[in-house]
Amino acid sequence: MNDNNFAGNARSAIDFLGNKWNYDCMGCAISRGDIKIPGGIIYEGKHTLLGADPEIPIPGFLIVNTKRHVNSFSELNKEERIEVGNVIAYAEKALKELNIVKEVTLVQEERSKHLHIWIFPTHGWMIEKFGKGIKYLRDISEYAQKNVSEEDIKEILNVIEKIKKYFEQHDINN
Ligand SMILES: [Zn+2]
Repeated sequence: MNDNNFAGNARSAIDFLGNKWNYDCMGCAISRGDIKIPGGIIYEGKHTLLGADPEIPIPGFLIVNTKRHVNSFSELNKEERIEVGNVIAYAEKALKELNIVKEVTLVQEERSKHLHIWIFPTHGWMIEKFGKGIKYLRDISEYAQKNVSEEDIKEILNVIEKIKKYFEQHDINN
């Protein structure tokens, strides 16, 4: 994966189901519904969307995307900040309570032109193959893309459905 794709700044992408998408800004295209991300939107709030990472096939790898085209927490208003925080908190609760993973890593890069937060799950195989820590996230992502199986895709879509249900059953404002 080239660096622009990794930062979310490329003009096109092929998702892990094999669909190719073209766009000016991936975050805006997802917000408008021009890109149908694999598994669909998990949760849609007033200001944010939660979905699986479209390009990196890892069960429970989630992305919180703001609807507005900004690239920093510092540009969010209070209401947006509260919703982003609540969505992250409930996404993490879902991953833990549904026993998908016990630990996650959050990543938000301002070099990416549209604000999105990675909720990167720590699976056992990642620690065994690569070790722990943010320096391995890129290697893990590339490994997942190169080695994805049909079974993995089924598992990813299954996890997405479980998290959708979790969000239906919980009020994230509580
Ligand atoms: Zn945008």
